[in-house]
Amino acid sequence: MDLFVDIVTPNGHSYKQPTGLFINNEIVPATGGQTITSLDPATDKPIATVQAASAADVNRAVEAAKAALVHPSWKQLPATERGQLMGRLADLMEENRELLASIDAWDNGKPYHVAVDEDLTEAITTIRYYSGWADKTFGQTINTTPQKFAYTIRQPIGVVGQIIPWNYPLSMATWKLGPALACGNTVVLKPAEQTPLSALILGTLIKKAGFPPGVVNIVNGYGREAGASLASHPLVDKVAFTGSTGTAREIMKMAAGTLKNITLETGGKSPLLVFPDADMDQAVKWSHAGIMSNKGEICTATSRIFVHRDILDTFTAAYKAAVGSVKIGDQWDESVFQGPQVTRAQYDRILSYFEIAKSEGATILTGGASYKPTDAKNANGYFVQPTVVVNATDSMRIAQEEVFGPVVVIFPFDDEEEVIRRANDTTYGLGASVFTRDLERAHRVAAEIESGMVWINSSQDCDPRIPFGGVKQSGIGRELGEAGLEAYSQVKAVHVNME
Ligand code: NAD
Repeated sequence: MDLFVDIVTPNGHSYKQPTGLFINNEIVPATGGQTITSLDPATDKPIATVQAASAADVNRAVEAAKAALVHPSWKQLPATERGQLMGRLADLMEENRELLASIDAWDNGKPYHVAVDEDLTEAITTIRYYSGWADKTFGQTINTTPQKFAYTIRQPIGVVGQIIPWNYPLSMATWKLGPALACGNTVVLKPAEQTPLSALILGTLIKKAGFPPGVVNIVNGYGREAGASLASHPLVDKVAFTGSTGTAREIMKMAAGTLKNITLETGGKSPLLVFPDADMDQAVKWSHAGIMSNKGEICTATSRIFVHRDILDTFTAAYKAAVGSVKIGDQWDESVFQGPQVTRAQYDRILSYFEIAKSEGATILTGGASYKPTDAKNANGYFVQPTVVVNATDSMRIAQEEVFGPVVVIFPFDDEEEVIRRANDTTYGLGASVFTRDLERAHRVAAEIESGMVWINSSQDCDPRIPFGGVKQSGIGRELGEAGLEAYSQVKAVHVNME
């Protein structure tokens, strides 16, 4: 199988797509003979076939990362120069912004205008942000007794295995790579098998930026084989994972073998609360974007909307109008808001939840079926109608389980204490939103909601400078912001006897 194939994206970018594994700064063949064929979710047609790593290939990548960890070209590299390499990578991503966005839009199904404006901006900003941290991670000196001088140093954790999902392929890669590289670790990154293409281009940019061989290795592969061998590999010191809660449980077990450090970012069923004094236009705008953008394939999606009974009818009517106003279609139409779901499996899963909601006795206010695009070339695409469910109870599956699609449930509530209790009545705790003009209430509710993040009068308003992560079964640890550095460095205490 060729290690590079010539590709022209539907919006006209010609490029060479690597198809092998990125190990030691080279694109190399995999050994097991397994492949992954990436499909365009808008047409169900193949884009490209790449090679999938076997356990032996993962081992090769981990050994490369282990050797790079102690190689002077990385270990002795002054931290400022490490930051400069990252800055160069961000510049190269900027130069290739349109190509990278085209690949992710094609592979994932998100509109190109969103990929190029939002995903790539976030990905580039994340690498730039962490490039600045590279020479600003310090230890402390600690006062004890006159006979002792004590200080701490921050050191990298070591070889990091990073396993990422498909909903924001490049952003997820940079959320993981940024803090890991700033802290001086080496990495084996496994992209999701649904979206394997852009990470390999990122690999070629990492080499071009001047990173030493083995510092970043990128192995496409299936979760059960490549993912599992990375999570259980004895030479891997840390596993950072983003994906489903079920897989996170498996990862914890696999990491337990050698007591690996772990960071887990998993699923959610995030609540959004609209109090009667909220700005109605803002509440509708953000609550719509909070679940319906990125076709609902958002881990922090605010998929449960609690609206005070006094404004329920007005809010619901405005929400239904917002849902009905958006265009659904393929990735390349500038006016499209919602593209196809990432895979047929995800599409089928969402459709099954429409049936589950109905069988439980909830009402589909709008949507509730697949969407048939008018353009014949998209006839086999994985499109669903944005869907609003009402008349549901808190215990129904549609109210408790993460659908990961453009499906929202609207519930009425009567008072603050009740809505906080109901918002917290879930095994998850990733994000939450509160809409009110009452400052005291906003901060009181933000403190009481069981989640890693709260947005006041907005939703999904993430920023690489602000910590991101969940509580309860939404995850362990934090990514982004200064907190993201904690996840990728360890503190060594040094005691000096002054007697
Ligand atoms: P998934 O858990 O099946 O897959 C995620 C990644 O894990 C993929 O790279 C996959 O190959 C790998 N994987 C799968 N099984 C594995 C195993 N046994 N061992 C090691 N690796 C394995 O998740 P998915 O269904 O593809 O993705 C959607 C989920 O991801 C949703 O539940 C969503 O909430 C979650 N998600 C969370 C965040 C976050 O930051 N919290 C962000 C995006 C997505």
